[in-house]
Amino acid sequence: MKNHYDVAIIGAGISGSALFYALTHYTDIKKVVLLEKYHAPATLSSSGNNNSQTIHSGDIETNYTFEKAKKVARAAKLVSSYAFFHKLQNKSIFEYQKMAIGVGDKEVEFMKQRHEQFKEIYPDLEFFDKETLKEIEPNVIKLADGSDRPENVVGSGMRKSFCAMNFNSVANHMIEQSNFGEHKVIFNYKVKDIIEQGDGAYTIRANGNSPITASFVLVDAGAHSLYLAQSMGYGLELGCLPVSGSFYFIPGSKLQGKVYTVQNPKLPFAAIHGDPDVVAQGKTRLGPTALALPKLERFKSGTTMDFLKVFGFGSATTKIMWDLLSDSEIRNYIFRNFLYEIPSIGKKYFWEEAKKIIPSIRLDELTYAEGFGGIRPQVLDKNKKKLELGEKKIKSNKGITFNMTPSPGATSCMKNALLDMLEIVDYLKANIKYEKIKEELNEESLDWLE
Ligand SMILES: Cc1cc2nc3c(=O)[nH]c(=O)nc-3n(C[C@H](O)[C@H](O)[C@H](O)COP(=O)(O)OP(=O)(O)OC[C@H]3O[C@@H](n4cnc5c(N)ncnc54)[C@H](O)[C@@H]3O)c2cc1C
Repeated sequence: MKNHYDVAIIGAGISGSALFYALTHYTDIKKVVLLEKYHAPATLSSSGNNNSQTIHSGDIETNYTFEKAKKVARAAKLVSSYAFFHKLQNKSIFEYQKMAIGVGDKEVEFMKQRHEQFKEIYPDLEFFDKETLKEIEPNVIKLADGSDRPENVVGSGMRKSFCAMNFNSVANHMIEQSNFGEHKVIFNYKVKDIIEQGDGAYTIRANGNSPITASFVLVDAGAHSLYLAQSMGYGLELGCLPVSGSFYFIPGSKLQGKVYTVQNPKLPFAAIHGDPDVVAQGKTRLGPTALALPKLERFKSGTTMDFLKVFGFGSATTKIMWDLLSDSEIRNYIFRNFLYEIPSIGKKYFWEEAKKIIPSIRLDELTYAEGFGGIRPQVLDKNKKKLELGEKKIKSNKGITFNMTPSPGATSCMKNALLDMLEIVDYLKANIKYEKIKEELNEESLDWLE
């Protein structure tokens, strides 16, 4: 049948694109279709404008525990290996210096201890004292009058690392490589509903387009994954809190590389960082901020009703929000992030925060990055009455799976794709081309994936 596929992937962000690549290159599945509601891949969270462009390896992200860092580092290697295999250096993957800095005695002590512990995972991790920082990342130390900032500052990081990625360009590359044979990508295909047929296949319908049927459906639709899952009766114990992230720019290359700051462990979202922008060339980007918004897509209209359906209003979500707001540090953080978005005053408040990274920054240099920023679909677990910070997979074990992928979902795209590939291959009784995975991604075995 012309419109029947072995696998249909819904959503051509970096997650769906990576899965499209994995299925078409690492398995013998013959017909895979990638369905995307917009005219091009990766225009939402996976766009180069809308995320922080960081390959999160866990070394400079102080919000990651030792165990999480180990896992993230391994996942990060997969997407980097993809880029190296296809020679995407300086096209999609970029080499910079990177570090996390500790400012003031308490953070300095924390960074020293963290550095010693994390060296076990990252043998190349280097400790930078204030004098070294002055040489390699001078604007972190220099005040506007040329003198040094008074507080003690240290860093832990690497002088050279392929740590930045334009995930949009990688998604485009993955799709170009995979659009061959009977495989197909269809843009402007907004999935309206998915219907389980009696024979085990699924019918996927979209307004103004012919329906498609598939033996397996993998939904990688970002914030809309839960929306589509719940419309089929799955994931009803979950809710979605869309947290938007915005950025600020300063002109020029004020930083040599990525500079992350120490995370307050109580805060649910990562602390701000600064780095050279890989898409807005010649600018230094600072952020992201974190603000809950009642919509599922940042700069598009028409998703507020979708938010109302998936937030999961009720006593469980009220309790989760109440618990968050009851903590004064979290409450202040939420309030401050709300202020950052107010055009007349936001910049002034953000300036105070940004000076932790570049103390010489002038208020008039800082501009709100209009049109930059995305949504992280954070998962609310109504049974546990908890805000979950990681990714979530809803498996039906009946030929349809839904992924929700907040940060670091872009970094984990190839790991998630391989994991989904294992499930799909098992379900369809297809075969994996392990030799090709070894050749391209340097992975002997996939047993470690979870
Ligand atoms: C401010 C911010 C900073 C971040 N920084 C980083 C970072 O530095 N590093 C990192 O690894 N991660 C980062 N993340 C997270 C990362 O951006 C996401 O995890 C990742 O982009 C998710 O990719 P995705 O393909 O799963 O979802 P998306 O990119 O959201 O793609 C989903 C796709 O599904 C399509 N779709 C939705 N509904 C339908 C439908 N009904 N029919 C058809 N198609 C549909 C959408 O149009 C879209 O193309 C950041 C996120 C934010 C918001």
